[in-house]
Amino acid sequence: MTCPICGKPTATEYRPFCSRRCADVDLGRWLTESYRITADSEDEAEDGLPEPEDPKAH
Ligand SMILES: [Zn+2]
Repeated sequence: MTCPICGKPTATEYRPFCSRRCADVDLGRWLTESYRITADSEDEAEDGLPEPEDPKAH
């Protein structure tokens, strides 16, 4: 088995990666993807909110 990040042989301690660094790289990618999906969902939800009332209209 090889590291999916850099292709070096996997280290048992950091399976399936070769080092802590590659594990962190993969985790960072995963978090970035997750954040992007969450942000997109929030954008859609905001579209459904009513316009805030203008206090000057009263
Ligand atoms: Zn690696």
